Amino acid sequence: MPTLFRELAKLCEQLGSTTKRTTKLRWVASFILQLDLNEVEPAVTMLTGRAFPKREKRVLDVSWMTINTLIRRMVDADNRVLSKAYSQAKDIGEAAKIIFEIGKMRKQALLSEKIMTILEVRQMLTTIAEATGSGSREKKERLLETLFSSSSPLETKYLVKILTGEMRTGFDEGLMEVAIAEAFKLPLTLVRTANMLRGDIGEIAYLARSQGKEGLKRLRFTIFRPVKPMLAQMASSVTEALTKHEGSTALEYKLDGARVQIHKSMSDVRIFSRRLTDVTESFPEIVQLVRDEVDADEAILEGELIATAENGRPRPFQHLMRRFKRIREIEAMAKKITVQLYLFDALFINDESLIRNPYQARRKALKQIAGSIPLTKQIVPLKASIAEGFLKEALEDGHEGLVAKRLDSPYTPGVRGKGWLKIKRILEPLDLVIVAAEYGYGRRHGWLSNYDLAARDEESGEFLTIGKTFKGLTDTEIVNMTKRLKRLKIKEERGRVSVLPRIIVEVAYNEIQKSRKYECGMALRFARITRIRDDKSLEETDTIQKVREIYAGQFKRHH
Ligand code: AMP
Repeated sequence: MPTLFRELAKLCEQLGSTTKRTTKLRWVASFILQLDLNEVEPAVTMLTGRAFPKREKRVLDVSWMTINTLIRRMVDADNRVLSKAYSQAKDIGEAAKIIFEIGKMRKQALLSEKIMTILEVRQMLTTIAEATGSGSREKKERLLETLFSSSSPLETKYLVKILTGEMRTGFDEGLMEVAIAEAFKLPLTLVRTANMLRGDIGEIAYLARSQGKEGLKRLRFTIFRPVKPMLAQMASSVTEALTKHEGSTALEYKLDGARVQIHKSMSDVRIFSRRLTDVTESFPEIVQLVRDEVDADEAILEGELIATAENGRPRPFQHLMRRFKRIREIEAMAKKITVQLYLFDALFINDESLIRNPYQARRKALKQIAGSIPLTKQIVPLKASIAEGFLKEALEDGHEGLVAKRLDSPYTPGVRGKGWLKIKRILEPLDLVIVAAEYGYGRRHGWLSNYDLAARDEESGEFLTIGKTFKGLTDTEIVNMTKRLKRLKIKEERGRVSVLPRIIVEVAYNEIQKSRKYECGMALRFARITRIRDDKSLEETDTIQKVREIYAGQFKRHH
């Protein structure tokens, strides 16, 4: 029996109503078990807040502005009702629900009432994505209108969330892995590894259901399918890192650039960013370098790209970002902003997965095939004083600090484990999301220049404000930021514009204080934006839980 989209919406609503992990898991696992086989991928994809599988190129290309205008057009509600809905609601999906509940539907919007199945919703989303070229905007709007008018307010709430990629039920991909393992009685590590290899949780659920344990076990690395990068935890000093790694550690320069994952198969080379987007076109000289130098038919390697000055010293991160954004005149830009690749890991070489091998063995294998491409500078320190000296040297050379890598640690994709510890000089900045902005005064009149910064609450999936700043951006950046924020506008009240959480910024601060000003109970003191992090994804932003930890750490030091 086909499953109705309504059932999926109801499940999401339930998920949002509890913070109990085990309860959520039980509900999702039993939901997945009841699905027809061909519903498994679409349902799992939607439950994790996407219209289509993560790795697919298909995009909806429907902006929040379009959705918003359409809702206003379909519902006979005045501005007061709308702004009330937006201020009552926790997110825009919920606001849409309230509007459809209280507003009267206009007549033409009621014509096509119909109960939709999960597969019909997927089909409709596909048609919306496929509408391209001239007249596509109107076509997309008409299709969306049909979709909304066939839906109850509750269904609309989750459709809007899927359309905007904001599920916020506190049920993320990590939990979905557990739910799949529970539903099909599979070891969690197997599901995790499979998901890491394919990078598509919907497909993993489908394989788990259709082919079970054996199907997942058969999965291997696939060249040109990027895997999630291994991440580092923070250490406050070299001594702490040495202690945590029980003296068995290597120290590498931490370069302040952009992480790249390089896939090579014979003469084909592709470069992926840390968010796993294909950035090959932006770096033709690196493609050529890898083609010429890497001595392996097939390889998946990782490294850091940094922008360099003529004397070889690193240039600030912003320069490098200009190379990432470039789509035209790439060659000219490549001459203007030179980049240097430093390799630091090898995940796969000539049909052999290396991720379970210890760090030292991977580094050795990397060195053997890297040709003239430099590896990150590294030492295996025998004494703390040598380690301290190396940190000083890294900072003097213009780098960010060090990464301590445990000698026997495997490569754990997507995991921020203890195997890698990063050591920086200052209180580490946070990656936060702009959730609202206010217009400035004087010279900044007319520009959205004062920003509300939020961290993600791991439990609820919501973004909670922890600070405000008008510092750090240049005038040009503020003008651009204003344009971007206006496109993400949810509502505007007395010069304050609430926006969809999309823009990620790195924020430095002097201290975290207890404060009643914000719902989360903390506030950043002297916050300032140090860079715009378009290379990061929302899931990678810092969490309220992490801010709490740093707060507790501060406390220890001060008292
Ligand atoms: P963070 O982004 O602060 O969590 O720090 C981890 C990042 O540091 C990685 O994702 C890399 O982009 C970067 N990085 C720089 N140098 C190294 C290195 N030698 N080893 C690993 N990561 C490095």
